[in-house]
Amino acid sequence: MTDSNNNVRENLDTVLSQIAKAARAVSRPPADVTLIAVSKTHDAESIAPVIAAGHRDFGENRVQEAQTKWPALKTGAPDLRLHLIGPLQSNKAADAVALFDVIHTVDREKIAIAISAEMTRQGRRPACFVQVNTGREPQKAGIDPGEAEGFVAACRTQWNLPVAGLMCIPPAEELAAVHFGFLKDLARRTGLAQLSMGMSADFEAAVRHGATHVRVGSALFGTRKKMETEGN
Ligand SMILES: *Cc1c(COP(=O)(O)O)cnc(C)c1O
Repeated sequence: MTDSNNNVRENLDTVLSQIAKAARAVSRPPADVTLIAVSKTHDAESIAPVIAAGHRDFGENRVQEAQTKWPALKTGAPDLRLHLIGPLQSNKAADAVALFDVIHTVDREKIAIAISAEMTRQGRRPACFVQVNTGREPQKAGIDPGEAEGFVAACRTQWNLPVAGLMCIPPAEELAAVHFGFLKDLARRTGLAQLSMGMSADFEAAVRHGATHVRVGSALFGTRKKMETEGN
């Protein structure tokens, strides 16, 4: 095993204990928070030690990249859960439904309809999160906060999607806690129990604000070599 693999295992222990500490600080059981190890841009060799350490939740932001890496990695750990955390194009909906166990980025009618049709066709029902653009950033994916309640209702009743929760990516230059608090209120209003929020820079704050899923990449695997764009 190389040094960098040892580092990834150490980082995993560190992040898990930081999550546990943040959870206990607000009287939440640490087991209520799922750490999604965001492995985008990292190859199978970097990911394998994290699987070997017993970790089972992984996130990727591109369908195509995930298709090249994960089928082989999954054969060694059939119980692992793969999370799609990047924007989804409707022409990738079939592949996404086939490969992923959770889709965090349902954010518009066209995508909801495409996923719903694929679920029916394939007989697979990955859990869905509705992504909310809490900062109303034009370049960012996510439903407008003002339309979120209606969209969640339509996902449930019109398209029969298994909606588990809400997801957000706060604007980089704003206080993340405000966005986490907003998302938590919105989840309460829509009767959703799960919150996908918090990344390497702010996952402890997210846990204190009720995150059930934190998406952590660089704090585990190190900084990524190139700035990847969002999406597929
Ligand atoms: C890359 C990515 C992350 C992880 O980011 P880090 O800052 O490396 O922890 C989390 N969420 C989404 C949607 C991402 O694209």
